[in-house]
Amino acid sequence: MNDAAVSRDTRSEVGLSAPAGRPTIGVLALQGDVREHVGVLDLCGADPVLVRRPAELAAVDALVLPGGESTTISKLLQVFELLEPLRARLRDGMPAFGSCAGMILLAGEVLDTRPDAQHLSGIDMTVRRNAFGRQVDSFETDLDFAGVDGGPMRAVFIRAPWVERAGAGVEVLARVPSGPAAGKIVAVRQGNVLATSFHPEVTGDHRVHRMFVDLVRDR
Ligand code: GLN
Repeated sequence: MNDAAVSRDTRSEVGLSAPAGRPTIGVLALQGDVREHVGVLDLCGADPVLVRRPAELAAVDALVLPGGESTTISKLLQVFELLEPLRARLRDGMPAFGSCAGMILLAGEVLDTRPDAQHLSGIDMTVRRNAFGRQVDSFETDLDFAGVDGGPMRAVFIRAPWVERAGAGVEVLARVPSGPAAGKIVAVRQGNVLATSFHPEVTGDHRVHRMFVDLVRDR
């Protein structure tokens, strides 16, 4: 995963900008499945770079917040002095995509988390952490995902959250189709900010990342 960052630094040292049409998309690299997102973004036509410092955040066109442990990432955002700069970039309209813990971080309100956890309010939604409970702690299912062609999307849920409340400006992209959690919202979009309860970075189905790269490129 360092290759992406190194190659970008090397390019800027020799005065080359990113290849035409390849937006620079940061992956928040404090904790979680950073490498998987970097690999998929690269395959989807973006130029992925790791973001750990405010200067790195300032240099990206968009940001992916990976899956992992939201309370840990929240703590590290404060330690690395990224919390306020990230809130500011989201307020300014930077596109972002969060999977699982990343969805939790992008919420305005989070249920069942630590009282000191910080969130980014990138999407007007209330998210319940670890919502699926022990019986279906981790599972896979096929979803209908609004706005993507090519049939149902295989989705992998790992101690996943769901969206308990989506605000009026939030578009619901997918819901759990059946079972005890049928109807629960698991993918949303508000403007240029996308979030999924599941992990499209691990299945080999790149349609969500492609949608994200396209929206960054179209901006
Ligand atoms: N349960 C984790 C959290 O609360 C999220 C799990 C994940 O990202 N796979 O942050």
